[in-house]
Amino acid sequence: MAKEQKRVYYFGGKKADGQANMKNLLGGKGANLAEMVNIGLPVPAGFTITTEVCAAYYDNKGRYPKELTTQVTEALKEVEKEMGAKFGDKDNPLLVSVRSGARASMPGMMDTVLNVGLNNITREGLIKKTKNPRFVYDSQRRLIQMYSDVVMEKAAGIEPAEGKGVRQQLEKELHNMIVKYGVKSETELSADALKELVEIYKKKVKEVLGKPFPEDAMEQLWGAVAAVFQSWNGKRAISYRRIEGIPDAWGTAVSVQSMVFGNMGDSSATGVAFTRNPATGENYFYGEWLPNAQGEDVVAGIRTPNPINEICKNEHTRHLPSLEKRMPVVYKELHKIQRILETHYRDMLDIEFTIQDKKLYMLQCRVGKRNGPASVRMALDMLKEKLITKEEAVIRVQPNQLDELLHPILDPKAELITKPIAKGLPAGPGGATGQIVFNSADAVEWKKKGKQVILVREETNPEDIEGMRAAEAILTARGGMTSHAALVARGWGKCCIVGAGECEVDALTKTLKIGNFTLKEGDFISLNGTKGNVYQNALPLKKAEPEKNPDFKAFMKLCDEIRVLKIRTNAETPEDAAKARLFGAEGIGLFRTEHMFYGLNAEKPLFLLRKMIVSKTEEERRAALNELFPFVKEDIKGTLKVMDGLPVTFRTLDPPLHEFVPKKPEERAKLARSLAISAEEFNKRAEALHENNPMMGHRGVRLGITYPEITEMQVRAIFEASAELLKENKKPFPEIMIPVTCADTELINQYALIDKVYKEVCDKFRLKSIKHLIGTMIEIPRACITADKIAGVAHFFSFGTNDLTQMTYGFSRDDTATFLPKYIDNKILPEDPFNILDQEGVGFLMKVAVEKGRSVRKDLKIGICGEHGGEPLSVEFCNSLGFSYVSCSPFRVPIASLAAAHATIKEKMNAPKKVVAKK
Ligand code: ADP
Ligand code: MG
Ligand code: MG
Repeated sequence: MAKEQKRVYYFGGKKADGQANMKNLLGGKGANLAEMVNIGLPVPAGFTITTEVCAAYYDNKGRYPKELTTQVTEALKEVEKEMGAKFGDKDNPLLVSVRSGARASMPGMMDTVLNVGLNNITREGLIKKTKNPRFVYDSQRRLIQMYSDVVMEKAAGIEPAEGKGVRQQLEKELHNMIVKYGVKSETELSADALKELVEIYKKKVKEVLGKPFPEDAMEQLWGAVAAVFQSWNGKRAISYRRIEGIPDAWGTAVSVQSMVFGNMGDSSATGVAFTRNPATGENYFYGEWLPNAQGEDVVAGIRTPNPINEICKNEHTRHLPSLEKRMPVVYKELHKIQRILETHYRDMLDIEFTIQDKKLYMLQCRVGKRNGPASVRMALDMLKEKLITKEEAVIRVQPNQLDELLHPILDPKAELITKPIAKGLPAGPGGATGQIVFNSADAVEWKKKGKQVILVREETNPEDIEGMRAAEAILTARGGMTSHAALVARGWGKCCIVGAGECEVDALTKTLKIGNFTLKEGDFISLNGTKGNVYQNALPLKKAEPEKNPDFKAFMKLCDEIRVLKIRTNAETPEDAAKARLFGAEGIGLFRTEHMFYGLNAEKPLFLLRKMIVSKTEEERRAALNELFPFVKEDIKGTLKVMDGLPVTFRTLDPPLHEFVPKKPEERAKLARSLAISAEEFNKRAEALHENNPMMGHRGVRLGITYPEITEMQVRAIFEASAELLKENKKPFPEIMIPVTCADTELINQYALIDKVYKEVCDKFRLKSIKHLIGTMIEIPRACITADKIAGVAHFFSFGTNDLTQMTYGFSRDDTATFLPKYIDNKILPEDPFNILDQEGVGFLMKVAVEKGRSVRKDLKIGICGEHGGEPLSVEFCNSLGFSYVSCSPFRVPIASLAAAHATIKEKMNAPKKVVAKK
């Protein structure tokens, strides 16, 4: 006969069946309880029912595997032996807690039930044993309160009306008792009062739920166990799993553990603590405790908890008693244990403990949650303490945690007590406060007057650029994570919330309506762009200055030491370039030449560009280009200078020309005059530029082929700027990038032009050479498929994954709002492919392109300059394909750097271990 499967794992005394690495089977809580027993810490005995039982329970329509009952009975016997008490016994009763625990901690799962096994008979035994009737009645009323709520109501799927839940009704009874006996709080209720309350509770449970409270200890135990399994498929748990991407199949374990009592009087207590301060990362024991309390009293916030020691006191808790002072001996032991635990787990831990009559018990430990700054600080400290390796220090900080160090944030304390007035998509992280303005001009104006403003728009477009720049933050009612506002804000590291659907923005009357209340121009609001929350009024801000933060700098240095992938930035102004250099960028991966026609000081060049666009003959066009040339050259030179010694990739003009043709009649008239043509003629020419599908129209390399003089002017500007810098003893390194290529022949055509200009400039400046590369953007599927041919001409590839995604899916990026949300809701697509690179489809094309390209040119430089270049998962993917660099907006540079370091570490961890040959 096959050996029956082990379903129950005992822990207690000096031995445990399980250990820390068995989280999948025992859940996080069960595995760590076992581990604490194994390393000799005081843990009340108990046993864990495996997650496999949960799976079997669901597979078999709520029936347990048949061997479970016997295994539980046996484990319970062992627990009874260890604790010297018997479950359900009238003279010497053992009480237990029933605790849920999945692999990952899951708020929203079932609450724990304490004091299971207590009834009117066993309580008499416990009273005799402890000589503390008050404590026993208090425990019993707590059991009824928890059990009826968690097991009889929630797990049974009963959804009571607001305020009608059994817990609330029982709490009302408790309150009535407090009033009746004229005391201040429940802790002052006498034993007799609590005994009376137990009977009132039982009656109420029957009345509310139509069933009596189970008195039988075994019935209580199995009821609680079943409730834990049921709770795995409760509404809250399911929705939490959806958000966090936890598979349904994991299941939860159940730990049944002997009760220890923190509510036996003033020499008893309970508490939670962290081995280091989780908010700052500082290396001192941090925590809270309550005397004469049980279980969740500390976290529930019913009573204000006390600081655990003197060092973690603050101005609000200074007057409260610390455990360190109140129970110095127990505190010392607890302090020693938390050190043992941290050294053992080599990480900051979150621990739960209870003191029963001066004796300390450990009830839980797990790796503690921490915020971004704390996470960086701890990683650096633990590395210094030689507790962890450099790689571990880097892998422990998540990209979104590092992000927290880069943006000012709303003061979390203030946020905690304020309710958001609206919610949207978290497009630009960080926090901001300011006065509402409704258009770009007002934003600029108010900013000039020294005001801080938040630009509120239905949605933004390129004409809002100046206002967006001037604003502290941007809020739009429409648009998605890749909308114009979102892209721009992310590029600047600006706080931004888009698609806040409840907001009705009326730019005419300058009002923002949310539900039935209205905000006007000048009213203050606050945004949390990391969460997507909008608040009324100005909440206090906490500033971030990463470049002045020594922790940040030290941590980035670690990343730089580990990663192989280079990090560049997308930037087109000397200021952005300088910022990115400060953050560690090793070049510019995308400089869009057209940027100089938007925003500040763009008037003159834009006018000249427009003149060029509506020119009809080559002669007219060349004249306009000649006028434009000095502006373009200056612009390019500024950035090359800041990036001295590092590569700068200049993309030649990309957008379709009609985008630049003015719509306003007065602007059109002015242009017509300067070209000496009539208004009709002007309109005719503008009309001719119209395209049905401009994204796939006359743009990119196609412009350079139809109007070679445009390419010529741009590359001349690039080479002359470089030549001038060489004369100033600088080291410019331009890379010329041709966009929207689909065939090698396009490049051959442009290459000839570029080469001609290159030679002319070298001659003009009497230079033998100017260091440069000529390459192409890969953003059309055909370019990927014919990459071997293209690499015959191009020195480098840079993947434009925005367009490549657009072309591969056949989705117009600017029009996805109408259908993509539905796709994602219905899981037709796992996520927005413009946000997170689609490795299966788009990534496949990239892989093909890399392989084909490098088969022809071994040292082909390969990068990415699409939005995905700063997205951690996509960065890892690029690393796996053997890219030379990724390029992203300046504020994403540290994130990309961290992601690249993670990629290198993970690659090493997954690499097959070298087998040492035996002699
Ligand atoms: P959660 O997963 O919500 O933290 P726990 O299972 O840790 O739930 O239990 C909630 C509270 O009850 C914790 O404060 C814990 O310390 C306490 N508790 C759980 N089991 C026992 C026990 N056997 N004796 C005393 N207190 C317990
Ligand atoms: Mg807990
Ligand atoms: Mg493109």
